[in-house]
Amino acid sequence: MPARDVLLYPDPRLKQVATPAQPDEAERIAADLLDTMDALGHCVGLAAPQLGELARVVVVDVRGHRKAITDNGRLVLVNPKIVAADGAEIGREGCLSIPDLTANVRRATAITVQHAGGTIESAGFEARCIQHEIDHLDGILFLDRVASLVDDVFRRKRYAESAESGESGEAGDSAGKPASSS
Ligand SMILES: [Zn+2]
Repeated sequence: MPARDVLLYPDPRLKQVATPAQPDEAERIAADLLDTMDALGHCVGLAAPQLGELARVVVVDVRGHRKAITDNGRLVLVNPKIVAADGAEIGREGCLSIPDLTANVRRATAITVQHAGGTIESAGFEARCIQHEIDHLDGILFLDRVASLVDDVFRRKRYAESAESGESGEAGDSAGKPASSS
């Protein structure tokens, strides 16, 4: 499957609620999500609505990321549901669909997720990425979750500059710098 274009805000499909995925479409969409994530390099997650597919499928892969404290491998979550959540922490997030901004977002620090393939436990950076991607399935973008649009949203400079200033490694879809620089 070829890598596909990621929809950019304010595309209206990013604000819609996705429907449960059937097994055959889930497989096709997951393959496209993984190929697109791999092609982007700096991407740690992606949700089907970002490809214009309004089905409940997300992928997350934080393997090797310096901020990851749990790592469930290369995750494909079909019809995921957060069934338990603990803790709260504010952290910086970015999104491939809103490439010019990052923001401080409050998320649970530990979650349990049920999905078509079973149940997983996740914490920290990986849990933040999963929560960000599942939000996409409900038409929720990270900017919808900031406490203050004035104080908690930041304009991203170029990836290279943000990496140097220590702002790289935000959660969400985008790890904040291209793979080529690491
Ligand atoms: Zn996103």
